[in-house]
Amino acid sequence: MRTIHDIHGGIHPPERKALSRPGDLQKAPIPPVLVLPVRQHLGVPALPVVAVGDTVMGGQVLAEAQGVMSVPVHAPTSGTVVAVESRPIAHASGLTDHCIVIQTDGENRWLDFEGIARWQDMDPAVLVERIREAGLAGLGGAGFPTAVKLSPGPARSIETLLINGTECEPYITADDTLMQCRADELVEGAHILAHILSADSILIGIEDNKPDAIARVQAAISRAGATIELATFPTKYPSGGEKQIIEILTGQQVPSGGIPADIGIVCVNPGTAVATQQAIIDGKPLTHRIVTLTGEALAAPQNVSACLGTPITQLLEHAALSAEAQQRIIHGGPMMGFAVSDLNAPITKITNCLLAPTATELPLPEPAQPCIRCGHCAEACPASLLPQQLYWYARAKDQEQLAEHRLFDCIECGACAYVCPSQIPLVQYYRAAKGQIRDSEQEKRRSDNSRERFEARQARLEAETAAREAKRAARKAAAQSQAAKNGSDPIQEAIERAKARKAEQEPNP
Ligand code: SF4
Ligand code: SF4
Repeated sequence: MRTIHDIHGGIHPPERKALSRPGDLQKAPIPPVLVLPVRQHLGVPALPVVAVGDTVMGGQVLAEAQGVMSVPVHAPTSGTVVAVESRPIAHASGLTDHCIVIQTDGENRWLDFEGIARWQDMDPAVLVERIREAGLAGLGGAGFPTAVKLSPGPARSIETLLINGTECEPYITADDTLMQCRADELVEGAHILAHILSADSILIGIEDNKPDAIARVQAAISRAGATIELATFPTKYPSGGEKQIIEILTGQQVPSGGIPADIGIVCVNPGTAVATQQAIIDGKPLTHRIVTLTGEALAAPQNVSACLGTPITQLLEHAALSAEAQQRIIHGGPMMGFAVSDLNAPITKITNCLLAPTATELPLPEPAQPCIRCGHCAEACPASLLPQQLYWYARAKDQEQLAEHRLFDCIECGACAYVCPSQIPLVQYYRAAKGQIRDSEQEKRRSDNSRERFEARQARLEAETAAREAKRAARKAAAQSQAAKNGSDPIQEAIERAKARKAEQEPNP
């Protein structure tokens, strides 16, 4: 029996998960227009390889990956490319991004795919390449390219593949639904991932508030006759943070600034495991995902499998949004999500939930009051940070102290802000501070690069001057030695030659 460890802090907000009826998976209709951002992952945007007017089939590559930290984008159905342009995207910044827009044709024609039945016999590098080509990025919310996660490098040996089925954020039930409806694919996907990583063991962790998912995954493990361990643990937010679930299930702590692979663990979301199974066994790229549509402003909250690129407004209509004045739509959950500024923005690989709360259900926060130094935030922090200190240093833009107080260990879970009696939007300060530090580092890198370029140019110029000097000195030495041999003075001879030329050119009197 595995020992379950507790993590520091954590909170118990109302779960509200039953609202979206986890386990009952519906299919969202294919919308008339799909908007596919070329960056739906962490890293470099993919490069469009289609143009306006092209007809495309489901599964066709629309944009190719650019380098290792990039993944391609595929068409989720057939249709015609009608634009390749900047469109609003679902992002906390409210920015636009480059998108490929497809007018769907309703025929839903697909390319033929070829899967790999005997993946056990394949070189892991071939399988990783297949996963990269299928456009997999972590479906848990961060969008980290899966192929990169599966390549921890020769210096790291992986003992455990951990499937993180925690889904601790209130309201969201997309992973719960996936684990109930696709448990067999999940188990097979986990085996493929473990084969790729040469992991010794597979561990699936699920919070104890998902009894149906636990039962179905356990049944799938038994059906497969697999040696997979399923561990359950008490519900607490945010147990689903990568570092938090590792500590809960193993008692080990990922070092500050490190990654789980540093301690022999690779952690993936259940959706990523299922997408792996589809990419390898069926040869299918990632074109759809499960999204929870929830909140009391929806008459028909539910979980849907939806085409990536579906405009948010279409899904809300499908779930019968009855919008209030100033209706808020949150991308993600109430703790870590953000308000969507344009409902024409599409869902992407990282969209796990669209939350449409009424004003009474999730009231807007009151204006922030001064910090009263109560310390509740530090008690709630699962990363054992000092949120109040981080807040002061973020306000003071004191980057040295922010680093000292491990700002980058903050997982932006919002537990500190949730318990703060002064309603201070602490996470906003941390996000802004992280952005400023990244900007300063980028600026420093830029100035270091230009200094290095300047120094290299100076060194090259000096070397060229020295080479010229050396040549001149060598020529002079050779001439002098020749003159010594001949008993003549080359300088005097040159002067005489110049005088003679001048005399020839002067007119006769
Ligand atoms: S919980 Fe809020 S008021 Fe209390 S110490 Fe933290 S930041 Fe200050
Ligand atoms: S948001 Fe950051 S500082 Fe606040 S509780 Fe979560 S990890 Fe701690």
